Amino acid sequence: MTIVLGIESTSHTFGVGILKHEDDKTEFLANYKSVFKPEKGKGIDPSICAQHHKDVREKVLKKALDKACISLEQVDVIAYSCGPGLPPCLLAGLELVQKISSDYNISVVPVNHCIAHIEIAKFSGGLKDSIILYVSGGNTQVIGYSEGRYRIFGETMDIGIGNAFDVFAREIGLDFPGGPKIDELSRNGKERGNYIELPYVVKGMDLSFSGIVSDAVRRWNKSDKSHKFKEDLCFSFQETVFAMLTEVAERALSHTKKNEFVLTGGVAASERLQEMLSMMCRDRGVIFYGCPREYAGDNGLMIAYAGLIQYNTGKCVIDGNKADFNPSWRTDEVDVSWI
Ligand code: AMP
Ligand code: MG
Repeated sequence: MTIVLGIESTSHTFGVGILKHEDDKTEFLANYKSVFKPEKGKGIDPSICAQHHKDVREKVLKKALDKACISLEQVDVIAYSCGPGLPPCLLAGLELVQKISSDYNISVVPVNHCIAHIEIAKFSGGLKDSIILYVSGGNTQVIGYSEGRYRIFGETMDIGIGNAFDVFAREIGLDFPGGPKIDELSRNGKERGNYIELPYVVKGMDLSFSGIVSDAVRRWNKSDKSHKFKEDLCFSFQETVFAMLTEVAERALSHTKKNEFVLTGGVAASERLQEMLSMMCRDRGVIFYGCPREYAGDNGLMIAYAGLIQYNTGKCVIDGNKADFNPSWRTDEVDVSWI
């Protein structure tokens, strides 16, 4: 039997997940998190966010252990989010990892945050060889496995799509996180169908969002700032960026001939994005799987799960005092020896 403790701290979420693996069966025991919320009108300040993680980390750990009915003595390995992410936040997680690892003499497995998103999504959907669209605050990538690595077929050239939602939302007076609020406002806009043309920026397989944000904000500032215009603009913004994602996702499926598609990351919560992608998949005869919210947003369990499959290869375990973080660790830099 193997008990894995997973710790996530790359950005706004401090999370701890615990799982048990025995006789080829994996059981999820706990998944707790505390999410940092910036002050109204502000974005995430990495050092304030890291302070939040330091304030809550022991509490979140205790809650997860209590829920799982596990003590630290029983933990076989600690998996932690090693990157990519905000350096002060990664450090806040690493400090806890090093402390537990040294106090209880437990080895650790460094986990790539993006790969953790992919692996838990595939596991929860029972999928094997998929194209993955990973859309979150900081990341936007279209990914597929090929010859020992998760290859990035397309990605954002500037900001993550969730960040684009959050910045645009802030500029038009909506709270963080902006995605769900824009989603809500866009429903009436969609009903009216008043599409306002915004820049549509797809270059090959890559995407850019910052120009769309600037243009949408410029239009807002020049407008009468009515509620109706806000709804129309939210609808237009959302349709434009989701159409871009759908185009690139479809091309990845077409090139690779894979017949499974997974949507994950915090932005996967959007029903409209799910609808557009599932229509595209249906037309191509591809299985569509939207990762459930509990596993799609940042969480500790996905780190525990990715840690487990790496631990099982026997290759990825290191001493706690050698643990480090890598703020710019790319998905395609990881040797995927478990597939
Ligand atoms: P993550 O970084 O994976 O935790 O995802 C957080 C991001 O997801 C934030 O930028 C949110 O604005 C975005 N988000 C959450 N729900 C929705 C939604 N329904 N539509 C669009 N974006 C969303
Ligand atoms: Mg994430």
